Amino acid sequence: MIYIVIPCYNEQEVLHETTRQLSAMLTATSEPTKVLYVDDGSRDTTWDIIRSLSKQYDSVEGVRLAHNVGHQQALWAGMEQALQLGAEAVVSIDADLQDDIAVIPRMISDFRAGDDVVYGVRRERTTDTRFKRWTALAFYRLMNSLGSGTVYNHADFRLLSRRALEALLSYPERNLFLRGIVPMLGFNTRIEYYDRKERFAGESKYPLTKMLNFALDGITSFSIQPLRWIHGIGLCFILVAFGVMIYALTSYVLGRSLPGWTSLLMSVWLVGGVLLVAIGVTGEYIGKIYMEVKRRPRYFIQETTTTARS
Ligand code: UDP
Ligand code: MG
Repeated sequence: MIYIVIPCYNEQEVLHETTRQLSAMLTATSEPTKVLYVDDGSRDTTWDIIRSLSKQYDSVEGVRLAHNVGHQQALWAGMEQALQLGAEAVVSIDADLQDDIAVIPRMISDFRAGDDVVYGVRRERTTDTRFKRWTALAFYRLMNSLGSGTVYNHADFRLLSRRALEALLSYPERNLFLRGIVPMLGFNTRIEYYDRKERFAGESKYPLTKMLNFALDGITSFSIQPLRWIHGIGLCFILVAFGVMIYALTSYVLGRSLPGWTSLLMSVWLVGGVLLVAIGVTGEYIGKIYMEVKRRPRYFIQETTTTARS
């Protein structure tokens, strides 16, 4: 059974249409599939709709979370449930069907052909505002320069095989940024391209503040680089301090300075630099502690000679 996991937060306007389109598409494929809605503590009639849909369609199931935990955690919950229900693969997609569901059969056939991770990647972002496009691009660039292998223009539309899913769920961290973790898993990976559509009803559940928080989460849960920057800035300060010292001392010797100015100027720069370096060194250790407490798994086995032969 392949599960399509869909997190929903106040999605009453879209659920009927989403279910209609999905079940039409899924019955056309001969694969055994089910849709699993995760109600992320919605405050509208989302759950009632999911319940009635699950009576109406055999292939629809639902889980209701006790309170709103956010997109990433809701997705995680859904994937965990799907795994427990015996899913051999899970496709995650948003409730608003902005991502092309026609890609799902392609993902499934990639999975049948042996791929473990299939990313849905938007070809263009013509339906997004210029602002969203620009900020997104800047964000992916920043993430990659910080050393996380985030896939450009890939949201949370992807297929994971059972073993990739098990690997993903073995990451015990609470600060969840799935787009950063999934590329760390490895396994056989493929990209499927599609065009992203407009949300057909309801409004985005990601206002600017949530987007910023999400980006900040992404950066801080993958990189201790910002801590290193403090260190670097501190070292620069100390270099500048030497320049300032020479300048201040020559002014002093030439008698072009006020009393007290020389010593103050020198100490401000030097002390500033030394403090920043000290914070940077402390930061290195905090960064180490941070990475340790994540307790991330060290490796996953792709295959061995014994499994390959069987
Ligand atoms: N979502 C959720 N919990 C939240 C916010 C959003 O489960 O707290 C779901 C939402 O129902 C949708 C998906 O996350 O299925 C993506 O949200 P949305 O389409 O509003 O984001 P956008 O496409 O505007 O980035
Ligand atoms: Mg959307």
